[in-house]
Amino acid sequence: MYTFKEIIGHQDIIHHMQNSITHKKISHAYIIDGEEGMGKKTLAFTLAKTLQCMEAGIDSCNHCISCQTFDSGNHPDVILVQATKRKTIGVDDIRTQIQQDIDIKPYQYRYKIYIVENADTMTLQAQNALLKTLEEPPDYGIIFLLSSNYNRFLPTILSRCAILKLKSLSFHQVQDYLIKKVQIPDYQAKLYASFAQGNIGKAQEMTADSTFIMMRDQVIQWANQINKIDLVSLFEMEKEFEKYKDNIQEVLDIFYTWYRDLLLIKQLGENPYIIHQDQVKILLKQAHGISYNRIGQCLDSIMMAKDQLSKNANFQLTIEMMLLKLKES
Ligand SMILES: [Zn+2]
Repeated sequence: MYTFKEIIGHQDIIHHMQNSITHKKISHAYIIDGEEGMGKKTLAFTLAKTLQCMEAGIDSCNHCISCQTFDSGNHPDVILVQATKRKTIGVDDIRTQIQQDIDIKPYQYRYKIYIVENADTMTLQAQNALLKTLEEPPDYGIIFLLSSNYNRFLPTILSRCAILKLKSLSFHQVQDYLIKKVQIPDYQAKLYASFAQGNIGKAQEMTADSTFIMMRDQVIQWANQINKIDLVSLFEMEKEFEKYKDNIQEVLDIFYTWYRDLLLIKQLGENPYIIHQDQVKILLKQAHGISYNRIGQCLDSIMMAKDQLSKNANFQLTIEMMLLKLKES
């Protein structure tokens, strides 16, 4: 575990860091920035393990004493810095876990590496305290700041750090990962990868949690019912939407992909581009009873609802309006 060759995507960052290792141009501070689930911690751990590896190559060797100690979770010279009292990292956390510690030479290995989780939650005082360390770091000191929004750092911190910004993976990278590593069937991998937006952590969470599948089943049910019910039931349907208020963008995305699939299946029949592969029979049946024009209108009204809700429009009115438009008059 924790070798560069196992990391999926992020090749530009990995090449950059391996080059820095080869040319002995390691900075004292890095910001690893990316949204939740993108693999910041995996990348920081792999970097720390490689830098401490006794073989001193551009990837961890996995068999030296340093690599083995790292994998056991007790590496004395790789320190995970976390908030201790509150949700934010306070000045005391930085003082006790970094400032007072970094002056003590490495216990046994080449570097002393600090990995600060949620570093963008550092208070102003904490950032100022860290700045002192960043201004005069010891030769052996390396700090990785993990963040999901590097704009929260003071400009003085930013100017002293190299920024490694994680990019979303491609649909195929996520799909491959789910098939090979999580070992789920192809059609499921395709479904999850379509919704994970290039985020492996998010995709993995979806496979482990039934919420997504429940939402999808609900959406399929709604899409099935909408043209069979009267207006009173339609307003009842809106009330069911309220249960998904916190996940409404995701629910609407599922709705959108459902109509997208209807369009594709109407044009091409059963085909490999369908996202909801396991629902082909239902799709074929629904596609039979709806015109191209109607599908286009439905896609538009879902997009409009998504847009309005992202701008904090009234939830009930927006969903009601969307359902009225989805229903054939
Ligand atoms: Zn090693």
